[in-house]
Amino acid sequence: MMIDPFERAITYVRVSVTDRCDFRCVYCMAENMTFLPKKELLSLEELDRLCTAFVDLGVRKIRLTGGEPLVRRNIMSLFESLSRHLRSGGLEELTLTTNGSQLERYAEALFGYGVRRVNISLDTLDRAKFEAITRWGKYDKVMAGIAAATQARLDVKINMVALKGVNDAEFDRMIAWCGAEGFDLTLIETMPLGDIDGDRTEQYLPLSLVRAHLARSWTLTDLPDRTGGPARYVRIEETGGRLGFITPMTHNFCESCNRVRVTCTGKMYMCLGQEDEADLCTPLRASEADERLKQAIMEGIGRKPKGHDFVIDRRHNRPAVKRHMSVTGG
Ligand code: SAM
Repeated sequence: MMIDPFERAITYVRVSVTDRCDFRCVYCMAENMTFLPKKELLSLEELDRLCTAFVDLGVRKIRLTGGEPLVRRNIMSLFESLSRHLRSGGLEELTLTTNGSQLERYAEALFGYGVRRVNISLDTLDRAKFEAITRWGKYDKVMAGIAAATQARLDVKINMVALKGVNDAEFDRMIAWCGAEGFDLTLIETMPLGDIDGDRTEQYLPLSLVRAHLARSWTLTDLPDRTGGPARYVRIEETGGRLGFITPMTHNFCESCNRVRVTCTGKMYMCLGQEDEADLCTPLRASEADERLKQAIMEGIGRKPKGHDFVIDRRHNRPAVKRHMSVTGG
């Protein structure tokens, strides 16, 4: 078991399998991004070894993310190989976060490899806005991807980043749509991660305000559900659906943090909002046995900080950390 200095058990790892993405969401990336040279990436075999070391150390849940995980070449072979840990019971859950653009192609196979739930990022149901937010995204393709996920019997959770003046008039519509489709919905506050082209101050919308506003039109019942993660859930009585709020800005949820993140170059970040990292690539490549790798993981966990402190306002309009969410893994 991995226990950090604040007595938190680390049972969840998010692995960014690529920093590349086929979208350029305005709050996430600049349009003109420089990505890592492909030769710096861990191979899929190395990613498997890394994930397996975490499973040996007590991790019960792995989420592949990015960048867009499904644009990494041959990514299905990683899902396939990791599925052995589901069959052996070493892992409880293997899942992914995706923008949905490739799900038409992969949803069936994902189910076949034991994936049961998928988080799909969708900030709007309005085609023109979707194209404006994602810059490069194709709305019909994502909608077809979501349909394919349902068809493949994957449970879908929609992630929607709340953006002032962009999609804040659409929460009711999204709640109704998710309710009708049987999807959970999670609203997320925009976080100051990496340089983007615009100014985040303009877009930041505290979810405390959103919740108060929603409570005028919907009956929200607090749910005790804790997925070990940062979301706090309510049931929307009118639709029967679940709505989560992820509030890294207005409410710090670090006391129950059970996770670490690993980049596609093998850096482990013990906190999304802090700079400290542990190099896992060197010990991974230094030996075919996993002892040094596991030792490096344990040393990193031993430095996991208590939490982060994000601020977005006019005096702090620079990113809290330089790396984009697509690097650390969202
Ligand atoms: N490409 C996949 C996707 O679109 O879901 C996975 C990676 S993406 C970086 C993961 C999640 O991070 C998405 O839901 C995205 O909306 C969110 N995200 C990106 N930048 C963010 C930011 N600055 N603040 C809050 N959420 C952000």
